[in-house]
Amino acid sequence: MSVFNASFFRQQCYINGHWVDASDQQVADVVDPASAEIIAQVPMLPAKDLEGCIVSAEQAGQQWKQQSATQRSQLLKKWHQLILENQAGLAELMTREQGKPLSEAIGEIAYAASYIEWFAEEAVRMHGDTLTGPGQHKRGLVIRQPVGLCAAITPWNFPAAMLTRKIAPALAAGCSIIVKPALETPLSALALAALADEAGIPAGVLNVVTGDGPALGKVLTQNERVRKLSFTGSTQTGSLLMAASARHVQKISLELGGNAPFIVFADADLERAVQGAIDSKFRNAGQTCVCANRIYVHESLYDAFLQRFQQATQQLIVGNGLLPESQIGPLINQQAVHKVNQQIEDALAKGARLVCGGPASASDGLWFTPTILADATSAMRCAHEETFGPMAPVFKFTDEHEVISQANATPFGLAAYFYTQNIDRMWRVAEQLEVGMVGVNTGIISSASAPFGGIKSSGTGREGSRFGLDEYTELKYICLELE
Ligand code: ADP
Repeated sequence: MSVFNASFFRQQCYINGHWVDASDQQVADVVDPASAEIIAQVPMLPAKDLEGCIVSAEQAGQQWKQQSATQRSQLLKKWHQLILENQAGLAELMTREQGKPLSEAIGEIAYAASYIEWFAEEAVRMHGDTLTGPGQHKRGLVIRQPVGLCAAITPWNFPAAMLTRKIAPALAAGCSIIVKPALETPLSALALAALADEAGIPAGVLNVVTGDGPALGKVLTQNERVRKLSFTGSTQTGSLLMAASARHVQKISLELGGNAPFIVFADADLERAVQGAIDSKFRNAGQTCVCANRIYVHESLYDAFLQRFQQATQQLIVGNGLLPESQIGPLINQQAVHKVNQQIEDALAKGARLVCGGPASASDGLWFTPTILADATSAMRCAHEETFGPMAPVFKFTDEHEVISQANATPFGLAAYFYTQNIDRMWRVAEQLEVGMVGVNTGIISSASAPFGGIKSSGTGREGSRFGLDEYTELKYICLELE
């Protein structure tokens, strides 16, 4: 059966439990980046339709927060189960709209579902606190309450996981939510909504709207009923949204761009470091915000690392994500290809050495051969800008102090990775890196149990873990005076 006949394949917005078109019937094409085929059309929802959605979602939230935490937890568990039952179809749909290899899409569905399971379990642990009395006759209590109606704006690189990380804690806390997925990848979002509906999540609690980012973003930040905004995407857009959300002082979480250093110290296990670099750099064709962006290798291992890294990189198979052997799918669009090309050309002009791969030519379309540049320096654009593509610049370093200051010489602070066998160095370096997340001897760090997020221009707030629920709750202090 084609995935386009599946019950979860939807081409309409999901508002207040109904599947709806834009009132003016405007639509946008969804294009498979591997074949350039138009696979669906989704509504370009006008701003006025979103205003109605906000009203119904807020009302639904009033009911939802009255349900017991156990009821909310059970509905989330049902949704989780339905997602896993449909894992293969959801993964195929994701590969069609986003391009990532099917094996990665299958992994993402499981990963996306894991946030729902995690927060289903956290829902029943939304504990408060009791305080030592502020006076002889006074007693203090702290309770946690849902923040209210939430809005989530999500990117195209993880079309399912970036949503469930926001929806699951919101629903667990007793909030309703409106999600606006990226226009490149709305089908996974609508499929998740279809399964939430089937799971019995009440109408209006979860809503998915498709359309123009700036237009819908404006409504979501300017309507005072929306009490919380959670955004994942570029630092530029996140910064605009943060300014806009100031109007009604919305609570805000931002997960923005990164520029992750990946450091291989002299005492690293070389094979593990090479594998970690492959995992971290080339997952999703390099299109993740935690991808290794700058690879620093100690001079004593530099040549050996480059040789092994080149061998492993050249074995990666570029191809349509639907083919089982493919490891690197197409990039999302021409702009993405152009950005990687520009970084390579800039680096080569400034003295970098091409180890393998190279810039894409016009006839390559969205396909990009994994590329390694050696002898990268801080003068190059790739040292300062997020690459978001399958290109790895390798820098040589000599001492720990110097490499830490280079690693931190960026406005971003999302993830960092390093390889060492020395326990003192593990602790020392992990503490000094100015980031929200550190991988030590691993290139893969994400998990529903861990707080995901960054510092500096990489954002604010954390997703996942027990801390993830805090983003969707407010503390209320109650002071009791006794006679
Ligand atoms: P990318 O460069 O990866 O597409 P963006 O930050 O532009 O990153 O997009 C991430 C999400 O933000 C998408 O859902 C997009 O539609 C949305 N978006 C883009 N610009 C705005 C904006 N000005 N206001 C609100 N949302 C926006």
